[in-house]
Amino acid sequence: MRTYDVTVIGGGPAGLAAALSAHGEGAKTLLVEREARLGGILKQCIHDGFGLVRFQEKLTGPEYAQRFILRFQQAGISCAVQTFVTRAERAGEGFDVTLVNRDGVGTIRTKTLVLATGCRERTAKQVSIHGTRPAGVFTAGTAQHFTNLLGQLPTKKCVILGSGDIGLIMARRLTLEGAQVLGVYEAKPTPSGLTRNIHQCLHDYGIPLYLSHTVTRVLGAGRLTAVEVAQVDGSMRPIPGTEEVVECDGLILSVGLIPENELAQSLGVELDPKTKGPVCDGQLMTSVDGVFSCGNALHVNDLVDYVSESGELAGRNAARYAAAPRRTVPIRPSPALLYAVPQRLDLDRDNSETALYFRSREVLDGCVLRVRADGREVFSKRYPFLRPPEIERLNVDFSRFGLHEGSEIELDIEVTEHG
Ligand SMILES: Cc1cc2nc3c(=O)[nH]c(=O)nc-3n(C[C@H](O)[C@H](O)[C@H](O)COP(=O)(O)OP(=O)(O)OC[C@H]3O[C@@H](n4cnc5c(N)ncnc54)[C@H](O)[C@@H]3O)c2cc1C
Repeated sequence: MRTYDVTVIGGGPAGLAAALSAHGEGAKTLLVEREARLGGILKQCIHDGFGLVRFQEKLTGPEYAQRFILRFQQAGISCAVQTFVTRAERAGEGFDVTLVNRDGVGTIRTKTLVLATGCRERTAKQVSIHGTRPAGVFTAGTAQHFTNLLGQLPTKKCVILGSGDIGLIMARRLTLEGAQVLGVYEAKPTPSGLTRNIHQCLHDYGIPLYLSHTVTRVLGAGRLTAVEVAQVDGSMRPIPGTEEVVECDGLILSVGLIPENELAQSLGVELDPKTKGPVCDGQLMTSVDGVFSCGNALHVNDLVDYVSESGELAGRNAARYAAAPRRTVPIRPSPALLYAVPQRLDLDRDNSETALYFRSREVLDGCVLRVRADGREVFSKRYPFLRPPEIERLNVDFSRFGLHEGSEIELDIEVTEHG
């Protein structure tokens, strides 16, 4: 049986960065990817806007991925593409990983695992739309795959449900390809995507955004012929009497992403109900010793730069991992925050430069983030505004706060009077 120090599952930007940093630490590393090519979701993201933080350049998704793929290939790191990880289980001091590919089913043994499996899209089933089951209902990622990789236009006249970034980007993309995008319908009173995408993908192309609206029904037998839309109340329930029928041949769903964590669950990794990703410490080790998580599998990221950063951190720490009992303290976000990552700190590791990511629950103007250790304020930062679609990132030196077993860290947001 082949053995490795670090096995990375997933060859997107998170997995590539993890494998590169584990290899850089001298670990015998394997990267496993189920698709034929490395790059993950970036392969189909041909718009620009990637790498602004890391490279101060506006790259397309494939260009950003290629920078890492070249380094990965030059480093000569072991790689198995078109190989699906179907199972991972504890074996001795490490893990046995079952791989399925053209050669059949095989097993490798690894001391540590880095889960970089990305996320998947919510489907029509998860947003309860009534009606028949005609062709023409696509998730935004599938529509993007058809348009950008297969060169096939999935619709000529469509409605987009959900104002997530992928939906906004597809509104522009389909318009550029000659399709008519009749509108983006969002059940919430505020958009879910980045402000820059609302401007660059909708306003610049005259595509209307209908807030507090949803699609209640799909119509059509073989192919979609129309959708029924309606206004919703504060609890997102359709308001009777506001229904309208919009004729179209395509419904594109951009209703959220869910971190892909089946393997994590099978290993007994604790998941955070808020992020739907693993509960991790500042080194991105999950609740299961020797299993690390990064990228969109950890939490859904808006910027690929943060995905790569988390991959590097997870890969480096997987390579340095030495089994030792852990003493952790929790990081607890107040209800004003949607979530915070990491969710705990390992007292025996270096916590002097912890990258802390968080999202606010609501749109807030003029506010202060306060970090308290055992009730004492140890850090604060003022923000002119916070928006749930935009992840905030901070570097915090937790080593200065006198943390000990039984300590608790709380994060809170206070809206200031004058902003
Ligand atoms: C449409 C869209 C537009 C975006 N626009 C921007 C933008 O403009 N700017 C920006 O900075 N960011 C953007 N992002 C965000 C960024 O691209 C993603 O956050 C990032 O690519 C996620 O990287 P990842 O490695 O975590 O996941 P992925 O890229 O999804 O990679 C995960 C990989 O794991 C593999 N895998 C999963 N399970 C298994 C298994 N069991 N066995 C083997 N392999 C497996 C998958 O095949 C996949 O290749 C966008 C994302 C999308 C979807």
